[in-house]
Amino acid sequence: MKELSTKLLVIGGGPGGYVAAIRAGQLGIPTVLVEGERLGGTCLTIGCIPSKALIHAAEVFEQARHNAAGSALGVRAGEPTLDLAQTVRWKDGIVQRLTGGVGGLLRKAGVQVLQGWATIEDGKTVSVRMAGEGGEVRRVRCEHLLLATGSEPVALPSMPFGGAIWSSTDALSPDVLPRRLVVVGAGYIGLELGIAYRKLGVEVTVVEAAQRVLPSYDEELTQPVLESLKKSGVVLHLGCSVQGWDAGQGVHVRNARADEFALPADRVLVAVGRRPRTSGFGLESLQLDMAGRHVAIDAHCRTSMRGVWAIGDVTGEPMLAHRAMAQGECVAEQIAGHARRFEPMAIPAVCFTDPEVVVVGKTPAEARAAGLECIDAAFPFAANGRAMTLEATGGFVRVVARRDNHLIVGWQAVGRNVSELAAAFGQSIEMGARLEDVGHTIHAHPTLGEAVQEAALRALGQALHI
Ligand SMILES: Cc1cc2nc3c(=O)[nH]c(=O)nc-3n(C[C@H](O)[C@H](O)[C@H](O)COP(=O)(O)OP(=O)(O)OC[C@H]3O[C@@H](n4cnc5c(N)ncnc54)[C@H](O)[C@@H]3O)c2cc1C
Repeated sequence: MKELSTKLLVIGGGPGGYVAAIRAGQLGIPTVLVEGERLGGTCLTIGCIPSKALIHAAEVFEQARHNAAGSALGVRAGEPTLDLAQTVRWKDGIVQRLTGGVGGLLRKAGVQVLQGWATIEDGKTVSVRMAGEGGEVRRVRCEHLLLATGSEPVALPSMPFGGAIWSSTDALSPDVLPRRLVVVGAGYIGLELGIAYRKLGVEVTVVEAAQRVLPSYDEELTQPVLESLKKSGVVLHLGCSVQGWDAGQGVHVRNARADEFALPADRVLVAVGRRPRTSGFGLESLQLDMAGRHVAIDAHCRTSMRGVWAIGDVTGEPMLAHRAMAQGECVAEQIAGHARRFEPMAIPAVCFTDPEVVVVGKTPAEARAAGLECIDAAFPFAANGRAMTLEATGGFVRVVARRDNHLIVGWQAVGRNVSELAAAFGQSIEMGARLEDVGHTIHAHPTLGEAVQEAALRALGQALHI
C-alpha cells in the first residue's frame, strides 16, 4: 500500500473542505484533500448552484409566458416552449465550469487532491480507496485531520428515495417534467424547487407538518411568500403529515383532524431536511463528542480529539455554504499559527423563493428573547422607485437596533432580489454600525438599497419617503 504524509488532511471537497485546503495551501501548509465524488461538494454539484440555475431558467420561462399573455409593459411575445434537456445541459455546464475552477484553484494553491473515498483508521491516519479501475488503497498520515464530510438528504421511512420519489438531487436533473409534483416539506429547499417547477408549468402541491411555510422564519417575513404561492396556483396543505405513497392514488396525507386523503402525483419531492454525514467512513472509531447527530465543535472548530477539526454541515446548523467556507478559512489559519476563532456576529440566511427572503442577525422576537431592548422599523418596497420600475413592490426591509445606542443587531427583508442586500446587512452588523451610520450614508438612486437607508431612518423617526 502506498503511504504519504502531510501536515493537513481534509476529508471532503465541498465549500468547507476546498476553502480550508486552498487557504492552507496559500499559507504554505502541506495539504491533501480527499473527495469521493466531485470537487465543490453538495453546494456546487447538487445544491446552491444548480438550484439557482433552475430557478433562473424557470423565472425566464414564466416571464416569457407572462409576456405572451400580454404584459403591462407593452412587451409582446409568442407562447414559449421549453427544451428541458437543454435547460439541464445549461445548468450542468455551469456546475462543470465551477467544479473545474475549484480544481484549478486547489492546484494553484499546491494542494494534492486524492479522488477517492476516505476511511478513518485513527485521528492521524486515513486510508483512501482511489477512484477508477483497480480501487488502489493509499494510506495518508497527517498531523491535523479536518472533517468536512457535509450532509445528506433525510428520507421518509414510508417513502425511500428512488423511482417517483425524488430527493432534491433528482429534482435538479429531471428527464421529463412531471404533470403533478407533490413537495413534502415547506422549508427553503422544498419551496425554492416547488416554485421553480410551478413556473415551468407543473401542478405543484406542498405538504407541510407545521402550520406555516418556511416555519423557521418569522411570520411577517414569510407572509408575502405565502401570498405569492397562492397567487401562482401552488396548493398548500399545512399542518398535515405524509403517511405513505402508492402509484395508484399518490401521496397519503393526514390532516390535524386526523382525516386522511390522497394527493395524486407523478413525482414526489421529499425535502424534509438534511442530516450530517457522520457514518460509513470510520468516524465512529474516533469516539468524538457529538451534539445530537452532528460532530460537536468549540469556537475554534476543534472536536473533542486533539488535532481533529470539523467544519460545515457535519457540524450541524446552520447548514449553509458560506458558514462552511468561513469555518474552513478559520481552521487553516489556526493551523498556520494565527490566533483565530469562529465567532461571527451574524450568518446570513437566504431563501431564493419568490419573493426572496433574507435574514441577518436578530429578528425583533430574537432580540427580545436575548433580553435586548430594541427598536425595529420596516420600509416597504411599495414606496421605493426602483422597485416600481422592476414591478417588484411587494415586501419590505426591516432593521432591528438597540434602543440605548442604536447599534444594529439585525436586518430582515422580503422582496424581489433582496438576496443581494445580504452583503450590506452583514457588513453593517460585523462593523458595529449604528442606525445613524446607515441612515446617513448616501445610497445610490434609484436602487432597492434605498429601502435599507430608509428603514434605518424610519427607526430614528426620520424616514423621508413614507
Ligand atoms: C438543493 C440545495 C440547495 C441549497 N442551497 C443553498 C444556498 O442557496 N445557499 C447556501 O448557503 N447553502 C445551500 N445549500 C446547502 C449547502 O449546499 C451546504 O450547506 C454546503 O454544501 C455544505 O458544505 P460542506 O463543505 O459542509 O459539505 P458538502 O458540500 O456536503 O461537501 C462534503 C463533501 O464531502 C465528500 N465526502 C463525504 N464523505 C467522504 C469520504 N468519506 N471520503 C471522501 N469524500 C467524502 C462528499 O462527497 C462531498 O462532496 C443547499 C443544499 C441543497 C441540497
